Amino acid sequence: YAKTHGRNDYHFYAPEMSEYARERVRLEALLRRSIDRGELEVHYQPKVDLATGELAGVEALARWNSPELGKVSPKRFIPIAEDIGFISILGEWVLRTVCRQVVEWDSQGFRLPSVAVNLSVKQLERGDIVEVVSRVLAETGLSSSRLEMEVTESAIMKSDRTLSCLDGLRAMGIELSVDDFGTGYSSLSYLRRLPVQKIKIDRSFITGVSGEPSREAIVRAVISLAGALGLRAVAEGIETDAEARFLREEGCHHGQGHLFGRALPPDELLALWRDGGASPPKG
Ligand code: C2E
Ligand code: MG
Ligand code: MG
Ligand code: MG
Repeated sequence: YAKTHGRNDYHFYAPEMSEYARERVRLEALLRRSIDRGELEVHYQPKVDLATGELAGVEALARWNSPELGKVSPKRFIPIAEDIGFISILGEWVLRTVCRQVVEWDSQGFRLPSVAVNLSVKQLERGDIVEVVSRVLAETGLSSSRLEMEVTESAIMKSDRTLSCLDGLRAMGIELSVDDFGTGYSSLSYLRRLPVQKIKIDRSFITGVSGEPSREAIVRAVISLAGALGLRAVAEGIETDAEARFLREEGCHHGQGHLFGRALPPDELLALWRDGGASPPKG
């Protein structure tokens, strides 16, 4: 830019550019320190069995409450953690926190069937994810059969190496889900080769699904595709009774969304469970 437009142009735009860059550098530095400073938390969102209304498990979602920046959305800080090579540390911290929490809940008589942790493609690309997960499970005493991992559709298709890591996790007994299904570009033949047990239908298809024929058709097709491949379908982002009813009638196995509960801090999830919550309204 400086070359084609000359020095003055460059200087003219420089202050604005550098302010953006400064903000980013600051955010990166704060993010790197967030774990040691105890600013990171894990919240848990209920997943329900749409047929019975029972709590089927939870999804663990990272939360960052920075004294300097306030609450920062994972949609913002996860991509930055990926960029700066911090996601493996963050991901391992989340996993360890989750495993410890589930084991602690067990000891309090709250036995969660399963817990799902999101996995970044960067964690898979490092090639050591199987060792990391084995170590954390051994350390915390959680059985691999109660751990699920969610990987986005676009991430799964990156390379053979990520695929072989997924095979390794599967071989350990961990269930795998394709997250945000429908937003990537996976071909159906590719999906068949993946070592996954669940398809999570992206929220963008679920919102307003009931009563809108084209949306209904897409969601119905994904549910039947899952069935044909022997996979379970999970709907994310369910906010209304009508959406839940449609999905239940179409045979979607699990559902997650604000209708059943938001991501909650551990004590609030426990309270919800004790009150017999996290059940979808019947009808
Ligand atoms: P995701 O894995 O698809 O998680 C679901 C997101 O949808 C969560 O957003 C959840 O709070 C939100 N959600 C659930 N139900 C509803 C609903 O009914 N309505 C609406 N509007 N939203 C709903 P969140 O917590 O902001 O997380 C965003 C994304 O950040 C996640 O999408 C996931 O890709 C990523 N993420 C979060 N925690 C982690 C983590 O520990 N590791 C990695 N690698 N990624 C994470
Ligand atoms: Mg997820
Ligand atoms: Mg998702
Ligand atoms: Mg999503």
